[in-house]
Amino acid sequence: MQRFLQTALILPVLLQLLASVIHTPSLYPYPMSHSAVQLGNGNKSETAALDKNSTSEAAPRRKRYRKSSVRRVPWSVLQSRYSGSFVIRGSGGRKLVALTFDDVPDPRYTPMVLDILAKHHTRATFFVLGSRAAKHPGIVKRMVREGHLVGNHSYSHALFAQASLAAYRKQITLTDQLLAKLTGYRPRFIRPPYGEILPRQVEWSREQGYIVVNWDVDSEDWKSIGSDKIMANIRKTLQPGSIILQHAGGGDSQDLSGTVNAIPKLLRYLRAKGYQTVTVDELLGQRGQRG
Ligand SMILES: [Zn+2]
Repeated sequence: MQRFLQTALILPVLLQLLASVIHTPSLYPYPMSHSAVQLGNGNKSETAALDKNSTSEAAPRRKRYRKSSVRRVPWSVLQSRYSGSFVIRGSGGRKLVALTFDDVPDPRYTPMVLDILAKHHTRATFFVLGSRAAKHPGIVKRMVREGHLVGNHSYSHALFAQASLAAYRKQITLTDQLLAKLTGYRPRFIRPPYGEILPRQVEWSREQGYIVVNWDVDSEDWKSIGSDKIMANIRKTLQPGSIILQHAGGGDSQDLSGTVNAIPKLLRYLRAKGYQTVTVDELLGQRGQRG
C-alpha cells in the first residue's frame, strides 16, 4: 500500500518533468543531432538569440517545425551539385583566408569592428541584413568607403529552409535593392542565416548570378564567449582558403566583446602563420558584384 502511494505521488511529478523537457524550446531552430548528422560542417551555429531578442526580425517558427516538412540537404551535396555557386571555402592554392562578419549593421559592435580592421589595414566581408541596413544606412556606407565587401544576409534573418521560393526571393531581392542604393552595386554573395538553404533556392540564386557562401571555420562567437575560446575555435579547422564566420551584430542579449577582442589576436596569429586576409571575392577569384 505504501509502495502504491509512493508511486501515485511520484508519477505525476515525473510526468510533469518529462513534459517540461519535451516542451523546452531548443536554442537552435532544429535538433542539434539532426544538424550534426545531416549538415556536418558547423552550421548548427548562428544567431538564434538574434531572432529571439530583436523585435525587427522574424523568429523561425520553432514550434511548427517538423523534420519531415523540411528537405534539408547536406552542405557537401550542395557543394558538388552547385559547384562554384555554393561554396564554403576557397581553393587553398595560396595562404589566403577571408574574414566574414554576419548580422550587421549593429551600432553597438559594427563600428568597433570597423575601427579595428582599419587600424590593422585589413579588409573583410560583411553580410548585411536588409532590415538593419534600413535602420543604420551610414554604417553600411562606411563599410564600402573603407574597402570592405558587402553581401546579402536576407532581410529579416529568415530561416530559408522553411521559406517558400517566393518568400526567399523576396528576402533576397528586398535586401539587394536596399544595398544597391547604399553601396552603389548589387552584391553577388549571399550568406543564408544559420547556413541553411534549400536546393531550389540555390538554383534560383545561381540563375540570378549569385554565389551562396557559407564557411569552413566557425568561431562560434555568437555564443558570447571570450576571445581565447574564439581563437581556439578558429584554429581547429583553419587552413589555406578558409572562410571564417564571425559576427559584428547580434541580439540584445548577445555580448560580442569577445569578437572585438579576438580580431587583433586573430590578425597577429594569421600574420605569424604566413596567411594573408582578403575579401570573399578575392579569395574565390570572383566578382563581388552582379551584372
Ligand atoms: Zn546571421
